[in-house]
Amino acid sequence: MNTDKIPTVTLRKGKEESLKRFHPWVFSGALTHMPSAEELEEGTVVKVLSHDGRLMGTGHFQIGSIAVRMLAFPDKDGKCPQIDASYFRTRLAEAYNLRRTLGLSRPDNNAYRLVHGEGDFLPGLVVDVYDDTAVIQAHSVGMHYARDIVAEELTRLPDAGISNVYYKSETTLPFKASLDPHNQYIIGSYKGNVAVENGLKFNIDWLRGQKTGFFVDQRDNRSLLEKYAYGRKVLNMFCYTGGFSVYAMRGGALSVDSVDSSAKAIALTEANINLNFPDDTRHRSYAEDAFKYLERIEKGAYDLMVLDPPAFAKHRSALDNALRGYKRLNAKGIEKIAHGGILFTFSCSQAVTKEQFRLAVFSAAAMTGRKVRILHQLHQPADHPVNIYHPEGEYLKGLILYVE
Ligand code: SAH
Repeated sequence: MNTDKIPTVTLRKGKEESLKRFHPWVFSGALTHMPSAEELEEGTVVKVLSHDGRLMGTGHFQIGSIAVRMLAFPDKDGKCPQIDASYFRTRLAEAYNLRRTLGLSRPDNNAYRLVHGEGDFLPGLVVDVYDDTAVIQAHSVGMHYARDIVAEELTRLPDAGISNVYYKSETTLPFKASLDPHNQYIIGSYKGNVAVENGLKFNIDWLRGQKTGFFVDQRDNRSLLEKYAYGRKVLNMFCYTGGFSVYAMRGGALSVDSVDSSAKAIALTEANINLNFPDDTRHRSYAEDAFKYLERIEKGAYDLMVLDPPAFAKHRSALDNALRGYKRLNAKGIEKIAHGGILFTFSCSQAVTKEQFRLAVFSAAAMTGRKVRILHQLHQPADHPVNIYHPEGEYLKGLILYVE
Protein backbone atom coordinates (compact mmCIF):
# COMPACT_ATOMS: atom_id res chain seq x y z
CA MET A 1 0.00 0.00 0.00
CA ASN A 2 1.28 3.46 -0.87
CA THR A 3 1.13 5.45 2.37
CA ASP A 4 0.82 8.67 0.37
CA LYS A 5 -2.70 7.54 -0.56
CA ILE A 6 -3.80 7.61 3.08
CA PRO A 7 -6.19 10.53 3.66
CA THR A 8 -5.03 13.30 5.96
CA VAL A 9 -6.53 15.59 8.55
CA THR A 10 -4.75 18.72 9.71
CA LEU A 11 -4.42 20.16 13.19
CA ARG A 12 -4.96 23.81 13.94
CA LYS A 13 -1.86 25.71 14.93
CA GLY A 14 -0.90 25.02 18.56
CA LYS A 15 -2.96 21.82 18.75
CA GLU A 16 -0.07 19.38 18.33
CA GLU A 17 1.11 19.48 21.96
CA SER A 18 -1.02 16.60 23.25
CA LEU A 19 0.05 14.36 20.35
CA LYS A 20 3.68 15.13 21.06
CA ARG A 21 2.93 13.72 24.51
CA PHE A 22 1.33 10.63 22.91
CA HIS A 23 -2.22 11.38 23.99
CA PRO A 24 -4.28 8.93 21.93
CA TRP A 25 -7.22 11.19 21.05
CA VAL A 26 -7.63 14.08 18.62
CA PHE A 27 -10.75 16.10 19.33
CA SER A 28 -12.78 17.41 16.41
CA GLY A 29 -12.22 21.01 17.56
CA ALA A 30 -8.46 20.58 17.11
CA LEU A 31 -8.83 20.04 13.34
CA THR A 32 -8.73 22.84 10.76
CA HIS A 33 -11.65 21.09 9.08
CA MET A 34 -13.77 18.28 10.48
CA PRO A 35 -14.64 16.10 7.47
CA SER A 36 -18.21 14.93 7.00
CA ALA A 37 -18.98 11.22 6.55
CA GLU A 38 -19.34 11.90 2.79
CA GLU A 39 -15.86 13.42 2.60
CA LEU A 40 -14.14 10.78 4.70
CA GLU A 41 -15.58 7.40 5.58
CA GLU A 42 -15.77 6.70 9.29
CA GLY A 43 -13.31 4.09 10.44
CA THR A 44 -10.73 5.02 7.78
CA VAL A 45 -7.08 5.16 8.81
CA VAL A 46 -5.89 8.77 8.47
CA LYS A 47 -2.61 10.60 8.82
CA VAL A 48 -2.70 13.47 11.28
CA LEU A 49 -0.59 16.44 10.17
CA SER A 50 0.49 19.50 12.09
CA HIS A 51 -0.53 22.91 10.68
CA ASP A 52 2.83 23.05 8.87
CA GLY A 53 2.51 19.58 7.37
CA ARG A 54 4.55 17.40 9.76
CA LEU A 55 3.32 13.85 10.35
CA MET A 56 2.10 13.57 13.95
CA GLY A 57 0.76 10.02 13.73
CA THR A 58 -1.94 7.82 12.24
CA GLY A 59 -5.29 6.78 13.64
CA HIS A 60 -8.90 5.78 13.03
CA PHE A 61 -11.16 8.60 11.93
CA GLN A 62 -14.66 8.88 13.36
CA ILE A 63 -17.44 11.47 13.41
CA GLY A 64 -17.87 12.70 16.97
CA SER A 65 -16.07 14.70 19.60
CA ILE A 66 -13.10 12.32 19.37
CA ALA A 67 -12.28 12.63 15.67
CA VAL A 68 -9.17 10.44 15.57
CA ARG A 69 -8.07 7.59 17.85
CA MET A 70 -4.31 7.31 17.45
CA LEU A 71 -2.86 3.95 16.48
CA ALA A 72 0.77 4.92 15.88
CA PHE A 73 3.19 7.77 16.38
CA PRO A 74 6.23 8.48 14.19
CA ASP A 75 9.44 6.54 14.83
CA LYS A 76 12.93 8.10 14.93
CA ASP A 77 12.83 8.53 11.16
CA GLY A 78 9.49 10.25 11.33
CA LYS A 79 7.59 7.28 9.83
CA CYS A 80 4.48 5.48 11.06
CA PRO A 81 3.85 1.78 10.44
CA GLN A 82 1.05 0.77 8.09
CA ILE A 83 -2.06 -0.31 9.92
CA ASP A 84 -2.27 -3.83 8.56
CA ALA A 85 -2.18 -7.42 9.83
CA SER A 86 1.45 -7.08 10.81
CA TYR A 87 0.66 -3.97 12.90
CA PHE A 88 -2.04 -5.84 14.83
CA ARG A 89 0.23 -8.90 15.17
CA THR A 90 2.90 -6.79 16.85
CA ARG A 91 0.51 -4.93 19.16
CA LEU A 92 -1.33 -8.12 20.20
CA ALA A 93 1.95 -9.94 20.85
CA GLU A 94 3.05 -7.04 23.10
CA ALA A 95 -0.27 -7.19 24.91
CA TYR A 96 -0.04 -10.95 25.40
CA ASN A 97 3.57 -10.76 26.61
CA LEU A 98 2.51 -8.33 29.31
CA ARG A 99 -0.23 -10.71 30.52
CA ARG A 100 2.27 -13.56 30.56
CA THR A 101 4.69 -11.41 32.54
CA LEU A 102 1.85 -10.74 34.96
CA GLY A 103 1.35 -14.48 35.37
CA LEU A 104 -2.26 -14.36 34.22
CA SER A 105 -2.13 -16.98 31.48
CA ARG A 106 -1.56 -20.23 33.35
CA PRO A 107 -3.44 -23.47 33.94
CA ASP A 108 -5.22 -22.23 37.08
CA ASN A 109 -5.96 -18.78 35.63
CA ASN A 110 -7.17 -18.44 32.07
CA ALA A 111 -9.56 -15.47 32.39
CA TYR A 112 -7.93 -12.10 31.76
CA ARG A 113 -8.11 -8.92 29.71
CA LEU A 114 -5.75 -9.22 26.78
CA VAL A 115 -6.40 -5.80 25.25
CA HIS A 116 -7.51 -2.78 27.24
CA GLY A 117 -7.96 -0.10 24.57
CA GLU A 118 -5.69 2.91 25.04
CA GLY A 119 -3.89 1.06 27.84
CA ASP A 120 -2.54 -1.31 25.19
CA PHE A 121 -2.12 1.39 22.52
CA LEU A 122 -5.15 0.03 20.66
CA PRO A 123 -7.84 2.65 21.28
CA GLY A 124 -11.36 1.39 20.65
CA LEU A 125 -10.51 -2.28 21.16
CA VAL A 126 -11.20 -4.52 24.14
CA VAL A 127 -10.41 -8.24 24.18
CA ASP A 128 -11.12 -10.54 27.11
CA VAL A 129 -9.87 -14.12 27.09
CA TYR A 130 -11.74 -17.01 28.67
CA ASP A 131 -9.71 -20.17 28.26
CA ASP A 132 -9.59 -20.82 24.48
CA THR A 133 -12.19 -18.17 23.58
CA ALA A 134 -11.46 -14.49 23.05
CA VAL A 135 -14.33 -12.01 23.20
CA ILE A 136 -13.80 -8.82 21.17
CA GLN A 137 -15.60 -5.56 21.84
CA ALA A 138 -15.13 -2.74 19.35
CA HIS A 139 -15.76 0.75 20.69
CA SER A 140 -14.81 2.53 17.47
CA VAL A 141 -15.84 2.22 13.83
CA GLY A 142 -12.23 1.61 12.82
CA MET A 143 -11.91 -1.37 15.15
CA HIS A 144 -15.23 -2.70 13.85
CA TYR A 145 -13.73 -2.78 10.36
CA ALA A 146 -10.52 -4.33 11.71
CA ARG A 147 -12.36 -7.14 13.52
CA ASP A 148 -11.56 -9.94 11.08
CA ILE A 149 -7.84 -9.15 11.07
CA VAL A 150 -7.82 -8.86 14.86
CA ALA A 151 -9.63 -12.20 15.20
CA GLU A 152 -7.23 -13.92 12.84
CA GLU A 153 -4.18 -12.51 14.63
CA LEU A 154 -5.58 -13.51 18.03
CA THR A 155 -5.71 -17.14 16.98
CA ARG A 156 -2.15 -16.89 15.64
CA LEU A 157 -0.67 -15.63 18.91
CA PRO A 158 1.87 -18.25 19.92
CA ASP A 159 1.11 -19.82 23.32
CA ALA A 160 -2.13 -17.92 23.96
CA GLY A 161 -4.17 -20.97 22.90
CA ILE A 162 -7.07 -18.97 21.43
CA SER A 163 -9.14 -20.99 18.96
CA ASN A 164 -12.56 -19.30 19.13
CA VAL A 165 -13.22 -15.59 18.69
CA TYR A 166 -16.60 -14.12 19.52
CA TYR A 167 -17.43 -10.60 18.36
CA LYS A 168 -19.71 -8.69 20.72
CA SER A 169 -20.20 -5.06 19.74
CA GLU A 170 -23.95 -4.59 19.30
CA THR A 171 -24.08 -2.23 22.27
CA THR A 172 -20.64 -0.64 22.17
CA LEU A 173 -20.53 0.93 18.70
CA PRO A 174 -21.95 4.36 17.94
CA PHE A 175 -25.55 3.91 16.89
CA LYS A 176 -25.31 6.81 14.41
CA ALA A 177 -22.66 5.02 12.35
CA SER A 178 -25.37 2.55 11.15
CA LEU A 179 -22.96 -0.38 11.16
CA ASP A 180 -25.58 -2.90 12.21
CA PRO A 181 -23.02 -5.12 13.95
CA HIS A 182 -24.03 -8.66 14.84
CA ASN A 183 -22.81 -10.50 17.87
CA GLN A 184 -21.33 -13.70 16.46
CA TYR A 185 -18.38 -16.04 16.26
CA ILE A 186 -15.84 -14.76 13.74
CA ILE A 187 -13.68 -17.86 14.20
CA GLY A 188 -14.62 -21.18 15.79
CA SER A 189 -17.80 -21.79 17.76
CA TYR A 190 -19.18 -22.41 21.22
CA LYS A 191 -17.16 -25.13 22.93
CA GLY A 192 -18.15 -24.64 26.56
CA ASN A 193 -17.80 -21.61 28.73
CA VAL A 194 -15.99 -22.49 31.95
CA ALA A 195 -12.93 -20.38 32.71
CA VAL A 196 -10.66 -20.45 35.74
CA GLU A 197 -9.65 -17.48 37.84
CA ASN A 198 -7.10 -18.11 40.60
CA GLY A 199 -8.18 -21.75 40.67
CA LEU A 200 -11.91 -20.97 40.94
CA LYS A 201 -14.24 -21.99 38.12
CA PHE A 202 -16.70 -19.61 36.49
CA ASN A 203 -19.38 -20.06 33.85
CA ILE A 204 -18.88 -17.10 31.56
CA ASP A 205 -21.94 -16.10 29.55
CA TRP A 206 -20.50 -14.00 26.74
CA LEU A 207 -23.58 -14.71 24.62
CA ARG A 208 -26.12 -13.14 26.97
CA GLY A 209 -24.12 -11.59 29.84
CA GLN A 210 -23.14 -7.97 30.43
CA LYS A 211 -19.98 -6.63 28.79
CA THR A 212 -17.90 -9.62 27.67
CA GLY A 213 -19.62 -11.87 30.22
CA PHE A 214 -17.49 -11.38 33.31
CA PHE A 215 -15.84 -8.55 35.25
CA VAL A 216 -12.22 -9.63 35.10
CA ASP A 217 -11.27 -6.23 36.52
CA GLN A 218 -12.18 -7.25 40.08
CA ARG A 219 -9.82 -10.28 40.18
CA ASP A 220 -7.25 -8.77 42.58
CA ASN A 221 -9.93 -7.23 44.77
CA ARG A 222 -11.74 -10.55 44.98
CA SER A 223 -8.48 -12.16 46.13
CA LEU A 224 -8.14 -9.53 48.83
CA LEU A 225 -11.70 -10.22 49.97
CA GLU A 226 -10.88 -13.91 50.26
CA LYS A 227 -8.19 -13.01 52.81
CA TYR A 228 -10.69 -11.11 54.97
CA ALA A 229 -13.54 -13.61 54.68
CA TYR A 230 -12.62 -16.20 57.31
CA GLY A 231 -15.34 -16.57 59.93
CA ARG A 232 -17.30 -13.59 58.60
CA LYS A 233 -20.90 -13.08 57.56
CA VAL A 234 -20.59 -11.74 54.06
CA LEU A 235 -22.96 -9.66 51.96
CA ASN A 236 -22.06 -9.38 48.27
CA MET A 237 -24.24 -6.56 46.97
CA PHE A 238 -24.56 -6.15 43.14
CA CYS A 239 -23.15 -9.66 42.82
CA TYR A 240 -23.68 -10.21 39.04
CA THR A 241 -21.83 -13.53 38.43
CA GLY A 242 -21.06 -13.96 42.12
CA GLY A 243 -17.31 -13.45 41.76
CA PHE A 244 -16.79 -11.99 45.23
CA SER A 245 -19.14 -14.61 46.73
CA VAL A 246 -17.16 -17.57 45.37
CA TYR A 247 -13.90 -16.13 46.75
CA ALA A 248 -15.54 -15.47 50.13
CA MET A 249 -16.68 -19.10 50.25
CA ARG A 250 -13.14 -20.31 49.60
CA GLY A 251 -11.85 -17.89 52.21
CA GLY A 252 -13.88 -19.65 54.88
CA ALA A 253 -16.80 -17.27 55.36
CA LEU A 254 -19.46 -18.35 57.86
CA SER A 255 -22.20 -17.37 55.44
CA VAL A 256 -22.39 -15.58 52.09
CA ASP A 257 -25.45 -13.72 50.86
CA SER A 258 -25.50 -12.49 47.25
CA VAL A 259 -27.88 -9.78 46.10
CA ASP A 260 -28.62 -8.46 42.61
CA SER A 261 -31.77 -6.90 41.17
CA SER A 262 -31.45 -9.10 38.07
CA ALA A 263 -32.85 -12.63 38.32
CA LYS A 264 -30.45 -13.63 35.51
CA ALA A 265 -27.48 -12.46 37.58
CA ILE A 266 -28.73 -14.46 40.55
CA ALA A 267 -28.98 -17.57 38.35
CA LEU A 268 -25.38 -17.02 37.20
CA THR A 269 -24.23 -16.57 40.78
CA GLU A 270 -25.93 -19.78 41.91
CA ALA A 271 -24.45 -21.70 38.99
CA ASN A 272 -20.96 -20.48 39.92
CA ILE A 273 -21.40 -21.33 43.58
CA ASN A 274 -22.55 -24.84 42.60
CA LEU A 275 -19.64 -25.24 40.22
CA ASN A 276 -17.14 -24.67 43.04
CA PHE A 277 -19.03 -25.56 46.23
CA PRO A 278 -21.81 -28.03 45.42
CA ASP A 279 -24.14 -28.75 48.35
CA ASP A 280 -22.55 -26.02 50.47
CA THR A 281 -25.34 -24.53 52.56
CA ARG A 282 -23.47 -21.36 53.51
CA HIS A 283 -24.69 -19.47 50.42
CA ARG A 284 -28.04 -17.75 49.85
CA SER A 285 -29.09 -15.39 47.11
CA TYR A 286 -31.72 -12.70 46.69
CA ALA A 287 -33.03 -11.08 43.50
CA GLU A 288 -33.78 -7.71 45.05
CA ASP A 289 -33.05 -4.02 44.78
CA ALA A 290 -29.91 -3.04 46.71
CA PHE A 291 -31.40 -0.06 48.51
CA LYS A 292 -34.50 -1.97 49.57
CA TYR A 293 -32.40 -4.87 50.80
CA LEU A 294 -30.08 -2.63 52.82
CA GLU A 295 -33.10 -0.86 54.25
CA ARG A 296 -34.76 -4.02 55.53
CA ILE A 297 -31.79 -5.84 57.11
CA GLU A 298 -30.92 -5.59 60.81
CA LYS A 299 -27.96 -3.48 61.86
CA GLY A 300 -25.02 -5.79 62.42
CA ALA A 301 -26.34 -8.62 60.21
CA TYR A 302 -23.08 -8.62 58.22
CA ASP A 303 -19.47 -7.96 59.13
CA LEU A 304 -18.02 -8.09 55.61
CA MET A 305 -19.80 -6.23 52.83
CA VAL A 306 -19.12 -5.62 49.16
CA LEU A 307 -20.78 -2.70 47.37
CA ASP A 308 -19.88 -2.89 43.68
CA PRO A 309 -22.66 -1.08 41.81
CA PRO A 310 -22.86 -0.47 38.07
CA ALA A 311 -21.39 2.83 36.84
CA PHE A 312 -23.70 5.48 38.31
CA ALA A 313 -22.24 8.11 35.95
CA LYS A 314 -21.84 6.97 32.37
CA HIS A 315 -21.18 10.59 31.36
CA ARG A 316 -19.95 13.75 33.03
CA SER A 317 -23.46 15.22 32.86
CA ALA A 318 -24.63 12.58 35.33
CA LEU A 319 -21.84 13.30 37.80
CA ASP A 320 -23.81 15.07 40.55
CA ASN A 321 -26.51 12.42 40.59
CA ALA A 322 -23.88 9.70 40.63
CA LEU A 323 -22.06 11.22 43.60
CA ARG A 324 -25.36 11.47 45.48
CA GLY A 325 -25.99 7.79 44.62
CA TYR A 326 -22.59 6.70 45.98
CA LYS A 327 -23.15 8.74 49.12
CA ARG A 328 -26.58 7.26 49.75
CA LEU A 329 -25.47 3.69 49.09
CA ASN A 330 -22.38 3.93 51.26
CA ALA A 331 -24.23 5.65 54.07
CA LYS A 332 -26.63 2.69 54.18
CA GLY A 333 -23.77 0.19 54.10
CA ILE A 334 -21.79 1.94 56.83
CA GLU A 335 -24.91 2.35 58.94
CA LYS A 336 -25.84 -1.34 58.73
CA ILE A 337 -22.47 -3.09 58.98
CA ALA A 338 -21.54 -4.76 62.30
CA HIS A 339 -19.00 -3.28 64.74
CA GLY A 340 -15.56 -4.21 63.51
CA GLY A 341 -17.03 -4.68 60.04
CA ILE A 342 -15.08 -4.46 56.81
CA LEU A 343 -16.63 -2.74 53.82
CA PHE A 344 -15.34 -3.10 50.25
CA THR A 345 -16.82 -0.22 48.27
CA PHE A 346 -16.27 0.55 44.58
CA SER A 347 -17.00 2.90 41.73
CA CYS A 348 -16.39 1.91 38.13
CA SER A 349 -17.60 5.26 36.73
CA GLN A 350 -14.87 6.72 34.61
CA ALA A 351 -16.36 10.20 35.04
CA VAL A 352 -15.91 9.99 38.84
CA THR A 353 -12.34 10.60 40.04
CA LYS A 354 -10.91 8.74 42.99
CA GLU A 355 -10.90 11.98 44.99
CA GLN A 356 -14.59 12.57 44.24
CA PHE A 357 -15.44 9.00 45.15
CA ARG A 358 -13.51 9.22 48.40
CA LEU A 359 -15.27 12.48 49.24
CA ALA A 360 -18.65 10.81 48.61
CA VAL A 361 -17.71 7.95 50.95
CA PHE A 362 -16.36 10.45 53.49
CA SER A 363 -19.72 12.30 53.43
CA ALA A 364 -21.50 8.98 53.82
CA ALA A 365 -19.39 8.06 56.84
CA ALA A 366 -19.97 11.50 58.38
CA MET A 367 -23.75 11.05 57.97
CA THR A 368 -23.65 7.90 60.09
CA GLY A 369 -21.31 9.35 62.71
CA ARG A 370 -19.43 6.03 62.95
CA LYS A 371 -15.67 5.76 63.27
CA VAL A 372 -14.35 4.74 59.87
CA ARG A 373 -10.79 4.06 58.74
CA ILE A 374 -9.42 3.35 55.27
CA LEU A 375 -7.46 0.09 55.18
CA HIS A 376 -6.74 -0.12 51.46
CA GLN A 377 -7.23 2.00 48.38
CA LEU A 378 -8.08 -0.16 45.40
CA HIS A 379 -7.92 0.23 41.66
CA GLN A 380 -8.08 -1.71 38.41
CA PRO A 381 -5.67 -4.62 37.97
CA ALA A 382 -2.54 -4.71 35.82
CA ASP A 383 -4.27 -6.35 32.86
CA HIS A 384 -6.26 -3.07 32.63
CA PRO A 385 -3.15 -0.89 32.36
CA VAL A 386 -3.37 2.88 32.32
CA ASN A 387 -1.44 4.50 29.51
CA ILE A 388 0.44 7.22 31.39
CA TYR A 389 -0.34 9.70 28.61
CA HIS A 390 -4.04 8.89 28.90
CA PRO A 391 -5.11 9.31 32.53
CA GLU A 392 -8.75 9.05 31.37
CA GLY A 393 -8.14 5.29 31.22
CA GLU A 394 -8.23 5.02 35.00
CA TYR A 395 -11.78 4.08 35.92
CA LEU A 396 -12.06 1.54 38.74
CA LYS A 397 -11.50 2.73 42.29
CA GLY A 398 -12.38 1.29 45.63
CA LEU A 399 -11.82 1.61 49.35
CA ILE A 400 -11.70 -1.01 52.05
CA LEU A 401 -13.07 0.51 55.22
CA TYR A 402 -12.89 -0.63 58.81
CA VAL A 403 -16.02 0.42 60.63
CA GLU A 404 -15.97 0.43 64.43
N1 SAH B 1 -19.60 -7.18 41.49
C1 SAH B 1 -19.81 -7.78 40.19
C2 SAH B 1 -20.09 -6.79 39.09
C3 SAH B 1 -21.27 -5.88 39.35
S1 SAH B 1 -22.02 -5.29 37.91
C4 SAH B 1 -18.59 -8.66 39.84
O1 SAH B 1 -17.62 -8.71 40.59
O2 SAH B 1 -18.65 -9.30 38.80
C5 SAH B 1 -23.38 -4.47 38.57
C6 SAH B 1 -24.57 -5.37 38.92
O3 SAH B 1 -25.50 -4.55 39.64
C7 SAH B 1 -25.36 -5.94 37.76
O4 SAH B 1 -25.38 -7.34 37.84
C8 SAH B 1 -26.77 -5.37 37.89
O5 SAH B 1 -27.79 -6.32 37.60
C9 SAH B 1 -26.83 -5.01 39.36
N2 SAH B 1 -27.74 -3.92 39.73
C10 SAH B 1 -27.98 -2.77 39.06
N3 SAH B 1 -28.83 -1.98 39.76
C11 SAH B 1 -29.13 -2.65 40.91
C12 SAH B 1 -29.92 -2.36 42.06
N4 SAH B 1 -30.60 -1.21 42.16
N5 SAH B 1 -29.99 -3.27 43.05
C13 SAH B 1 -29.31 -4.44 42.97
N6 SAH B 1 -28.53 -4.76 41.90
C14 SAH B 1 -28.44 -3.89 40.89
